[in-house]
Amino acid sequence: MTEYGIWTENDGGFTEHDLYSLQAANERLAEIIRESDDPDADREDLRVVELCPDHEGQPKDGCEECNEEYDDEADEDPPDDDA
Ligand SMILES: [Zn+2]
Repeated sequence: MTEYGIWTENDGGFTEHDLYSLQAANERLAEIIRESDDPDADREDLRVVELCPDHEGQPKDGCEECNEEYDDEADEDPPDDDA
């Protein structure tokens, strides 16, 4: 099941998650903006992001733990600079 969260750019993390549809996430985001005292700032800061299915609390695009795994694989196959 795909999980969505509300990502806050200012904090660099999720302020909300456990949202299991894009619609639910967008509704929650609209609710947060409605309740906020500073809606303009929040519109810049907050966005709906899909969570990494393998790692809790990480965005699917740009998951730090997934990226580390990919980096390890890349290290085993160094670029051929002598060509
Ligand atoms: Zn991940």
